[in-house]
Amino acid sequence: MTDRRRELPSVDRLLLEPEIRELLHTAPRLAVVDAVRESIAAARTRRGGPPENWASDVRERLSDRARASLRPVLNATGVVLHTNLGRAPLAPVAVAAMAAVAAGYSNLELDLDTGTRGSRSDHCRQPLRGVTGAEDALAVNNAAGALLLALSALASGRDVLISRGELIEIGGSFRIPDILLRSGAALREIGTTNRTHLDDYRRALDVGVAAVLTVHRSNFEQRGFVATPDSAELAALCREAEVPYVVDVGSGLLTDLSAWGLRGEPLVSGALAAGADLVLFSGDKLLGGPQAGCIVGRRAMVARCREHPVARAVRADKMTLAGLEATLALYRDPAEAVREIPVLRMLTLTSADLAGRAGRLAVLCPAALQPSLQPGESAAGGGSFPEAHLPTTLVTLDAGGLGPDGLALRLRLGDPAVVARVGNGRVLLDPRTLPEESFAAVAAALVEALRE
Ligand SMILES: *Cc1c(COP(=O)(O)O)cnc(C)c1O
Repeated sequence: MTDRRRELPSVDRLLLEPEIRELLHTAPRLAVVDAVRESIAAARTRRGGPPENWASDVRERLSDRARASLRPVLNATGVVLHTNLGRAPLAPVAVAAMAAVAAGYSNLELDLDTGTRGSRSDHCRQPLRGVTGAEDALAVNNAAGALLLALSALASGRDVLISRGELIEIGGSFRIPDILLRSGAALREIGTTNRTHLDDYRRALDVGVAAVLTVHRSNFEQRGFVATPDSAELAALCREAEVPYVVDVGSGLLTDLSAWGLRGEPLVSGALAAGADLVLFSGDKLLGGPQAGCIVGRRAMVARCREHPVARAVRADKMTLAGLEATLALYRDPAEAVREIPVLRMLTLTSADLAGRAGRLAVLCPAALQPSLQPGESAAGGGSFPEAHLPTTLVTLDAGGLGPDGLALRLRLGDPAVVARVGNGRVLLDPRTLPEESFAAVAAALVEALRE
């Protein structure tokens, strides 16, 4: 083997081979040279030594380069809001609205009635007010940006009260206290990790306090000896002290899903009804829209956010605003929202729906993988409904000699990539997050993964 490695050809020699020279007609010289270099380097380190056919190895590397880095994948994990897989897939009307403004010009900042300058923040204002009942609303780039903006506008240079039980990390090493400090506000921690009482807030509310912040513990639940004040009582206390009460609810649940057994996530309208002055939430979690951060609440406070310089730094782009507006419009009829918004549809699939889907997927899978059905659980993901039980039916596959991790790897490297789970020595496909239209592609990916 060592000998074969010593005999590796030079870059110049390979470039003279007719089949490789031919590639120069279809690809830039630099790209071909790079691919040749990569091919030789791989041969040097690979246990099997040089490829059988240098030209086809180089050709493959060239076409890999031509593939986009960011591309669609099929999500067979059953995690509905999978942060690594881009969170919420969008409703067709949202996709259409985004494509329409993306392809051309739009009235993003033009008032068509008067022909004068308009404001981009107007486009989602009415729909957000309509669906939440808030006095005013503002959409920005994401919820972390919304939090940064709200605290910058309301509390820079002053204190923000927050319970020690809510100094949380959301994921991707995003920590609430870090964002808070970046706003220029000072953190004043009250209570303890497991228990914070109304009295803790009352005692701490002095003239130095610019805002009270509560944060939904999105990705975990506390049980046992725990206490959090009732939000209506806390709101009343803040109102009495004339201190803004800001609530970060995280997920942006806009319609009650308890009929499907999904409980424990705060409704945005509920937080407002309890008396919060500002409520902040994500656009691409349970709301089911594009990446965005929403700020809804009292007119004067939303106005302070809108006018703050940070608003410019975290502003939403035209595609986001178009997609969010179209998604919000679906909530005018909650039944339509559940039907049309993929996140809500996937979360509310019944056990019978899922068993049917799993059966239809299993019959398309190659027999060599011995597909069978098995009860399992899906997850909402994205720090939403962390404790919810989402029973599903999994299609389980015996990967044979490839081993389950080997098959899962091949599926990820395929085109389209399929991201599956591995468990109990088998590859698991959860049909909850696979649209029925994708089943043929999943089956084809399995056939492809088994080749050679
Ligand atoms: C997810 C989450 C955020 C961050 O939202 P992004 O839209 O990802 O920026 C902030 N706060 C809470 C409580 C969350 O759950």
